Amino acid sequence: MADVVQPRRTPKSTGGVGGISLYVHVPFCLSKCPYCDFNTYQGIESQFGDFLTAVTGEIEAWARALGRPAVNTVFLGGGTPSYLPEGDVGRILDAIAGSYPVRGGAEITAECNPNDLTAAKCAELRSAGINRISMGVQSMDNGLLAMLGRRHDADEAVGALEACRRAGFENVNLDLMYGLPHQSLGQWRDTVERILSQSPEHISMYSLTLEDGTPLKRWVEQGNLPEPDPDLAADMYDLARSALGNAGYHHYEISNWCRAGFESEHNLAYWRNLEWLGVGPGAHSSLRTVDSPGGCRFWTVRSPREYARLADEWFGTATQWESATAAAIESVPTVDGLESIDEGTAAAETMFLGLRLLDGMDVGEASARAGIDLAARYARELGELTQDGLLVWEGDGRLRLAEEAYLVANQVFTRFLAS
Ligand code: SF4
Repeated sequence: MADVVQPRRTPKSTGGVGGISLYVHVPFCLSKCPYCDFNTYQGIESQFGDFLTAVTGEIEAWARALGRPAVNTVFLGGGTPSYLPEGDVGRILDAIAGSYPVRGGAEITAECNPNDLTAAKCAELRSAGINRISMGVQSMDNGLLAMLGRRHDADEAVGALEACRRAGFENVNLDLMYGLPHQSLGQWRDTVERILSQSPEHISMYSLTLEDGTPLKRWVEQGNLPEPDPDLAADMYDLARSALGNAGYHHYEISNWCRAGFESEHNLAYWRNLEWLGVGPGAHSSLRTVDSPGGCRFWTVRSPREYARLADEWFGTATQWESATAAAIESVPTVDGLESIDEGTAAAETMFLGLRLLDGMDVGEASARAGIDLAARYARELGELTQDGLLVWEGDGRLRLAEEAYLVANQVFTRFLAS
C-alpha cells in the first residue's frame, strides 16, 4: 500500500454533480430458463401488485434520503420487464420522473423477451417513455433456443424487432449467447449473419457460463449435454468480431458492439465506475459516501415477498439524510448487505472496469476521479503487462487492452486485484 497517494479531493457524498444511474430489478419471468441464475421467478404473478407498490415506494424513499440526485440513465432489467401487466412500466417510470430530475434525453432501457413484444406492448413501452429496447434473442437456431428453454423461435425474434421498429424504436440491443452445448461454428455463423441482416443498433454477446445450481449445469454434469468447448467458444468470438467489424460495428467493450453513437450509456456508467442505485429485490448499488473513500456496494433482499414488506416499511419512514454514510445505508430496511470499498479495491476496479472499454481508459482522468495516481500505483503491473503485449499505451495517455488480450482479459484484470 506504500505507493497509494492520498486522494486529491474529498470523496463526494452521493447526489453530487455527477448524478446517478438507476437500475430497476423486475423479478418476474413467465418461465425460468435452465441456464439462468438471476434473481427471477416463475409462478409468482400474484405478487405483481405488491411489487409495483413496493418498487415505486422504494424509488421515492431513496429520492428523499439522497436529496433527489439527478438521474442520467434508467435501466429496467430482470427478469422480464416486458412481462409486467399493462401500464406498470409506465407507472414505474412516472414514479422515477416524479421523484428525481431525469436528465433530458436520458437513455431509458427495458429488457424484453421477444414473445412479449406485440404491437400493443411496443406502443405501451414507447408511450411510457422507454427509448431503448434490449431483447434476449440468444440464438437464431431453433434447436438451441429450445435447449435454452427460450419461449421464442428465430422468426418470432425477427417479428419482435419489426414490431419495435414499427412502434418507432430506433435504439435496439440484441443479446446473443455462444459457446453452447451442441452449438457448431456453422450454426453460430448463421446466427451472426441473420442478426446482422436485421441491423440492430447494438449487439451484446456472452459466452455461456454454467452457473452453480442451474439445471443446465446439472445436465452437463450428468452427461446429458456435452461440456461447452472453450476453444470452440474462442473461435466463435473471433468469428463474431470479424463479421461485426466488417459490417461496420464499433467493438467498444469486450462483449459489446454498436453502430456509431449507440453505446449503452447505462452500462458505460458501470464500466466507468460511476454511481448507480439499484431498486427492486436483489438489486445491487454502488454509491459514494462521505465515510468510504472507494464508495459502498450494497444489495437489497432477494425474496420478492420480503422485499415488498420492507420497502413499504421504508416508504413510510424515509427522510432526507444530512449526508450519505455507510451506516445510513445499512439502516435502510430493504438493504440486506453492504461492503465498503477500500482505496485499493476501488483503484483495481477502476482499472479493470476501464480496460473493458476497448478504446482504452484515460489514466489521468481516471486517477483524478478515483483520487489515486493509478499509473504510479500500478507501475510494476503496467510495465509487465505492456512488455508482455497485453496492454498498450496510446500517445494521448490512454491505456487499452491489446487485441491479443481480449480472450484472456480476466487474467489481466486479476493482476490489478492481486496487487
Ligand atoms: S428470461 Fe432472462 S431473466 Fe428470465 S429466466 Fe430467462 S434468462 Fe433469466
